[in-house]
Amino acid sequence: MRQETRETLAPDRPDNMVLGATISWKSKVMPAEVSFPRCEWAIQFNDESCEKVISGSNWWESGFRYDQVNDAEYIRDYLFRAIYGNWAFLKNDSKFRKEYANRELDMMTYIAGKRESRRLVGDVFFVQQDIEKEYVKYDDAVVIGTYSIDQHFPTPKNTFFFPGEEFISTMKHYFNDLGTPRRYLRDDQVPPPYRIPYRCLYSVNVDNLFMAGRNISVSHIALSSTRVQNTTGMMGEVVAVAAALCKKYNCLPREVYTKHLNELLDSLK
Ligand SMILES: Cc1cc2nc3c(=O)[nH]c(=O)nc-3n(C[C@H](O)[C@H](O)[C@H](O)COP(=O)(O)OP(=O)(O)OC[C@H]3O[C@@H](n4cnc5c(N)ncnc54)[C@H](O)[C@@H]3O)c2cc1C
Repeated sequence: MRQETRETLAPDRPDNMVLGATISWKSKVMPAEVSFPRCEWAIQFNDESCEKVISGSNWWESGFRYDQVNDAEYIRDYLFRAIYGNWAFLKNDSKFRKEYANRELDMMTYIAGKRESRRLVGDVFFVQQDIEKEYVKYDDAVVIGTYSIDQHFPTPKNTFFFPGEEFISTMKHYFNDLGTPRRYLRDDQVPPPYRIPYRCLYSVNVDNLFMAGRNISVSHIALSSTRVQNTTGMMGEVVAVAAALCKKYNCLPREVYTKHLNELLDSLK
C-alpha cells in the first residue's frame, strides 16, 4: 500500500490484488457446421455479458483477488468455466450464433500461466521509485529492466457483469489510461531503463536461498515491470554466476555481495 512503500501507483489501502493468471484458447473454421453442447456447469452468459471473440490470449486473465498459489486450481477451473460457457453461449444461444456455426473450439492451454505469485524479501526491496529514477546507482546493479510498469485490471465491462469474479483484463501502462496498449505510448510515456541490484536476488532471512524470476524482492508495482522474460532471464544468469562463486569460496549468497562483489560484476562483463 502507498503509505508503506511511498509508491504513487500503489493503492491507498491494502487490497491484495495481483496480476492474474491466463488460459489461452483459439477456434478454427471447419468445412461444415459444428455443434457444441450447452454447459450447465460453466458460467452462464447473455448477449450483453458475453465476449464476441474467436480466440483468447493474454487478456483472458483471472484470480486478481485470489491466492495464486493456494487457489491455482480454482483459478484455472474458473477460466475453463468462463471460456466453455462463453463458447457454448456464442454457439447455441447468442444473436451471433450463425457467425459461429462452422467454428470449432480448437485449442486451450490446460495450465494457467501465472504472472504474480510469491514474492520473497531480499536485502533490498525494489519499488516503483527505483524504476522511475533513471539509472539508480546501486553498486551491485546486475540486471537491466526496460519494460514499462504494466499493471493489469479487470475490464470495467467484466466487473459490471461479474464483480469480484472477473476473467477479462486490460492493462494500465505506467501513468496512462486503463487500456492504452504499449504500442500507442510515446517514449516519454514509459520509464527509462533501470537497474536491479544483486541484493534483490537472495533472501533476507533464509541464508542459502537465491531468487530469480517473478519471485524476487520487488513490490507488486515494481513486479509489473520486472516480470518479463528478458529481465527475468538476466536474473537467472546472475544467480548462476553468484552460485558458482558461493561454491568457489564456500560462502553464502549475501557474502558474494559483502566479499566478492567485484568478482561477480567482472564475471558478468
Ligand atoms: C499469459 C502470459 C503472457 C505473458 N507474456 C509475456 C510476454 O509477451 N513477454 C514477456 O517477456 N513476458 C511475458 N509474460 C511474463 C513471463 O512469461 C513470466 O513472468 C516469466 O516467464 C516468469 O518466469 P519465472 O521463471 O519467474 O516463472 P515461471 O516461468 O512460472 O517458471 C517457474 C517454473 O517453476 C516450476 N515449478 C513450480 N513449482 C515447482 C516445484 N515445486 N518444483 C519444481 N518446479 C516447480 C513451474 O512448473 C515453472 O516451470 C507473460 C506471462 C503470462 C502468464
